[in-house]
Amino acid sequence: MCGIVGFSSKTTSAVGPLVNGLSRLEYRGYDSAGVALASAEGLRIYKQTGKVAKLAQLLERALPERERAKYTLGIAHTRWATHGLPTVANAHPHVADGGRLALVHNGIIENYAALRAGLEKRGVKFLSQTDTEVLAHLVAAFDKGDFLAAVCDALKRVEGTYGLAAISARHPGEMVVARKGSPLVIGIGEKDVVVASDVSAIVAYTRQVIYLKDGDVAMITPDGVDIHSLDNAPVAREVQEVDWDLGAIEKGGYEHFMIKEIFEQPEALANTLRGRLDAANGTALLSGLNLSPRELAAVRRLVIVGCGTSLHAGMVGKYLFESLADVPVSPEQAAEFRYSNPIVGPDDWVIALSQSGETADTLAAVRESIRKGALVSGLCNVVGSTIAREAGRGVYLHAGPEISVASTKAFTAQVTALLMTALKLGRTRRLSREAGDRLVSEISRIPDLVGKVLEQNDAIAAVAQKYAQANDLFFIGRGILYPAALEGALKIKEVAYVHAEGYQAAELKHGPIALLSEKTPVVALLANIPGKEKTLGNVQECRARNAPVLGIVTAGDASAKAVLSDAIEVPATGVELSPIVSVVALQLFAYHVARLRGCEIDQPRNLAKSVTVE
Ligand code: GLU
Repeated sequence: MCGIVGFSSKTTSAVGPLVNGLSRLEYRGYDSAGVALASAEGLRIYKQTGKVAKLAQLLERALPERERAKYTLGIAHTRWATHGLPTVANAHPHVADGGRLALVHNGIIENYAALRAGLEKRGVKFLSQTDTEVLAHLVAAFDKGDFLAAVCDALKRVEGTYGLAAISARHPGEMVVARKGSPLVIGIGEKDVVVASDVSAIVAYTRQVIYLKDGDVAMITPDGVDIHSLDNAPVAREVQEVDWDLGAIEKGGYEHFMIKEIFEQPEALANTLRGRLDAANGTALLSGLNLSPRELAAVRRLVIVGCGTSLHAGMVGKYLFESLADVPVSPEQAAEFRYSNPIVGPDDWVIALSQSGETADTLAAVRESIRKGALVSGLCNVVGSTIAREAGRGVYLHAGPEISVASTKAFTAQVTALLMTALKLGRTRRLSREAGDRLVSEISRIPDLVGKVLEQNDAIAAVAQKYAQANDLFFIGRGILYPAALEGALKIKEVAYVHAEGYQAAELKHGPIALLSEKTPVVALLANIPGKEKTLGNVQECRARNAPVLGIVTAGDASAKAVLSDAIEVPATGVELSPIVSVVALQLFAYHVARLRGCEIDQPRNLAKSVTVE
């Protein structure tokens, strides 16, 4: 998510390098931008919502060329909001110490509410709704004359993730940076030091870089870089030479955003989970829902609305809520729902799923449900988006910006968030403490399990070669893996332009089986969950019509493999997680088929990322 740039020089103005650096990081996605510049007279802060170009215009107006030379130190940021709307007040840098200290941050401070309450008690006035602002005030509070020590002391109180950079008028010429969970790279130039979230913002200045590791804190001056641990003990990090070209770097070294985002999933899902599992009580903490146990217990029916991939996540949600929370669920296609004069009312909870939070049909469904007195919540990735605001309560995915039109990490994050919501609702009802404990430990494994599927990338690329020429494909699954089959078919339609259909495995016999032949492969979802044996029976029926069958199977499942033409292995999981690991495998499969067919993967023809028309 988002980006940090820092610049320190003896002679060169920081203004140009900071703005150029932010432009280089634009591809990461953001909603607002800002800089803090230091001169002998103190700090100046400039912030804007929207594009970096708008910030650059603001700087043009505010700082004529001749005034820029004195600012040889500065920090800059593109924000992708997680806590608080994308407004100027919430944009970074955040300031403390009466404007003498400025700080930029990527990541999430989990215990910010408690820290903020403590600081407010001591009279600190907050200017934003962000989690980040507590960091600025904490560093100021611990500053007893040693800037690096102040940052270390502050960070010892913090739970969560950060990449950060801070400057202070009390410490001229010094910039302190730190990382835990969010990337930070230091570029060492001849006369300048450049810091950034990734090397794309650095290579214009130097190819000599140090990749900070989690737990590192560094003091940066024009003379050099000193790296320490949080306990202030010196650590040595080697200087490496970057040999990437700029084109590759914009996508972090990946060929396409789609594959980059597929591979980001372990980190994205860790962010979705961060601070939300309550192991002590076998439940989930979802404060954004703002629902009391009494309100949760009063829910009689759930309606989950969405379009496309979000609808498929909602269909997975039906299985999760019905099995864990004993509540009937109707997943609804949002465009149908809005015009069907839907029967919803005060006993119903409507959950609206939309990555962008701007999907027109889903938004209309939200408005219609509010009008009819239902309890409505959003499940969105983009903070402050229209659906999130109008629903007024919900769960943010925190999956980071999704740039590829074909959604990948948002789907797995949606399912993860729905699973936590089902766990929470279940624990207000009949789900036992033991079952809750089991689920908490299972859910916490999601990032690792997805990482295991990603290890199959080469194997999946090899299998894709065998299926890339097919012009028609069927995807089949049952139970919780039925929506996963729909999602697999959708992915391959979107990026590989292959005609594909998702079917409930038994339903294939009721018509579509007429189309099967050696030229019509079937992809079968066969992870080891109840009902797998039945799907294997359906696979036999396909094989008997000469259709090649590729199975997504649990690692080591020899009996399933015996009836398949090809298999992709996913790690063993409980039933609730099976759609996540299976769909990650199907995302990789669709990607490789698209690549082999030479398709325009990141901007497929005819598609838009955020569908704001009905
Ligand atoms: N959590 C911080 C905020 O919402 C930082 C977001 C980011 O990484 O850009 O301001």
